[in-house]
Amino acid sequence: MEDKNPYRENFPLLKENPVIYLDSAATAQKPSCVLQAERDFYEHSYANPMRGFYALSMEATKRLEEARDEVRRFINAPSSDEIIFTRNTTESLNLVAYSYGLSRLKAGDEILVSIMEHHSNLLPWQMAAEKTGAVLRFLECEADGRITQERLEAAFTDRTRLVAVAHVSNVLGCENPIRQIAAMARERGAVVVVDAAQSAPHMPIDVQESGVDFLAFSGHKLMGPMGIGVLYGRRELLEEMPPFLTGGEMIDSVTRTGAVFAPVPHKFEAGTVNAAGAWGLMEAIRYLKRVGFDEVHRRELALTTMALEGLKQIPHVHVLGSERPEEHCGILTFTIDGVHPHDVSAILDADGIAVRAGHHCAQPLFEYLKVNSAARASIYFYNTREEIEAFLKSTAGIRRKMG
Ligand code: PLP
Repeated sequence: MEDKNPYRENFPLLKENPVIYLDSAATAQKPSCVLQAERDFYEHSYANPMRGFYALSMEATKRLEEARDEVRRFINAPSSDEIIFTRNTTESLNLVAYSYGLSRLKAGDEILVSIMEHHSNLLPWQMAAEKTGAVLRFLECEADGRITQERLEAAFTDRTRLVAVAHVSNVLGCENPIRQIAAMARERGAVVVVDAAQSAPHMPIDVQESGVDFLAFSGHKLMGPMGIGVLYGRRELLEEMPPFLTGGEMIDSVTRTGAVFAPVPHKFEAGTVNAAGAWGLMEAIRYLKRVGFDEVHRRELALTTMALEGLKQIPHVHVLGSERPEEHCGILTFTIDGVHPHDVSAILDADGIAVRAGHHCAQPLFEYLKVNSAARASIYFYNTREEIEAFLKSTAGIRRKMG
């Protein structure tokens, strides 16, 4: 059955390159409007923002702040002062660990981290625990990724001071109950840090409704440019936190011996910001809004259902996570008996299909699930039924090709 996907037209790489791109969880392809927006910034508004008192620099500053406000609306933050531009999710999470973590955590405090965290939301907390004497505890899940009420109750203690959790797992694709986690954390006076790298491209986020304290995501996974990321933080927390990096642009005044830092968010944006990236990210958000999350979800779910049902029919293939396609957020991580995932990826690549293979920066989860490594196909709304058919056909032939 031919699948007319009207969005393909918008993606120059997908039009010109015959690749079957099933690695959108690693990074999403870019629509022309985003490429155009970044170019437009360089062509028409390019100067160093925040520092010049001439028209061009002020125009660059204006665009940077317009982008910030678009991001604020995207996650329904109360104020654009709570939106900090970073390079990516990893830098956003490190900012929280170095600034909030090192200044607020004390020996004996507990940091609760889910077992399915990407290394980006684990290593910063290992560092903070080591430097402060806080204790790292793990919130475990069922084999399908579900975090049950019992597990939550067992993991929280009176000493829990910070909870770090992915909104959506980059391996299992499951959505975690961040609202419930935030409510439990609040009762105990703990803060919640959400890694939204895998959820922001797929579902609406509302930081007020979910009650989280910090939330991080990357522009490049939601079709924006590489090198621009976001950290949302609750204003009261941000205002009390020390800077992460110091230098130009984050101060009010400097003497030989000290400095008065700029108000938030600029206190956390040392050095020249990637304003062109922010402008591109703004366009990516606007594009995503024009497509609409309902449409993104509808297309993704249809393709994920087809892929999951198809993989289940192939002998020796095992998909990690839930049996239900609606609990995968487009992510299908799988193993094939007797075949190393790198070979799976290489054979698929020979058929023009791009998937990722390895431990997906989530080694503790793989150890917990007793799986060495796996291949991952990740689907976005610009994929087609023909692509999923080709992926299933190629996957079905892998064991035969390995002899
Ligand atoms: N967190 C999750 C859940 C991810 O999937 C990723 C990227 O794969 C990251 C964090 C890190 O994102 P970045 O490399 O853009 O910092």
